[in-house]
Amino acid sequence: MNGRAGIVDLLRRSAGSAPAVFFTGGPWVGRQAGYTPERLLTDPVALADAQCRVHEKVGQDAVLAYFDPLYIPEAYGCRIRFLESGALTSAVALTEVEARSPGVDEGRMPVILEAVARLSRWSGGSVAVGTLLEGPLTTLSRVVGTEAALRLIIRDPSAVESALARVTEVLVRFARAAVAVGAELLVAADPVSSPAMISPAMYERFVQPALTRFFDAIPAPVVLHVCGDTRPILRSMAATGAAALSLDQCIDLSEARGLVGADCALAGNVSPSTLSSAAADAVTRESLAAIVAASPGPHVLMPGCGVPPESPLENVVAMVRAARAEGQP
Ligand SMILES: [Zn+2]
Repeated sequence: MNGRAGIVDLLRRSAGSAPAVFFTGGPWVGRQAGYTPERLLTDPVALADAQCRVHEKVGQDAVLAYFDPLYIPEAYGCRIRFLESGALTSAVALTEVEARSPGVDEGRMPVILEAVARLSRWSGGSVAVGTLLEGPLTTLSRVVGTEAALRLIIRDPSAVESALARVTEVLVRFARAAVAVGAELLVAADPVSSPAMISPAMYERFVQPALTRFFDAIPAPVVLHVCGDTRPILRSMAATGAAALSLDQCIDLSEARGLVGADCALAGNVSPSTLSSAAADAVTRESLAAIVAASPGPHVLMPGCGVPPESPLENVVAMVRAARAEGQP
């Protein structure tokens, strides 16, 4: 059972109505800490240390042991190439999803788990420690290719249900292993389940049950992030049991609050482009506006998606300070 309001208290390490604040963006963290992507892909010491160094400067409420979310598709045999413009994943056949169920000792999963364990020892309970993975449909889309996954939804519903169940088993196994070594929360990013990619009816039929099984099976709260205009699926997202819904900057949080009610924790939604390209006082203004829009109800101040790699440090600091200022009596 994932407590909804509990995520903010867990992140802040105290009860109260002030917002919590953290962010995703492994490449930004890596760049700020001065590590190359190559190091962060293979070296758990560097992966954990990058988070510690950035936390020292920024003071956010959670550190996440990850650089990219592709370590699970990679364990299926997908080849990943990291380019300046983003990552390229080569797909494998759907039969691989049925035939293989990668264990937590495969691919880069051990690197992530070792980084979680290191961060947990570093934190000693003072800062929430977690990691990031992708939801079942997004993971399946990485593994077999987005087009193939979406075609399967339309042409063969029972095959996609079976494939999602198989992928969910792998995600659950990894998430449980992460919790066992110290993860207190998980972030599940699920861009392929956005209404820009599939219909709300498809979300309700295929994605919501898979996410519900996933979240029910792990003993830690999950922040669910979906990009784009998620208003048509917000209630379905809330029904998955996610501890907080992380929303894109295109959504008015006060409208989202109206759709999901006062008990549901909302996370978001400072614009990533403000973080990367505007001055720090614009970040402060947007952060305070998000805090006002999300109230009344539990709120985690976050960017509307990951922190872009080129964002200046002072902009991310401004976002964290805005949440702290709001917490003052
Ligand atoms: Zn996003």
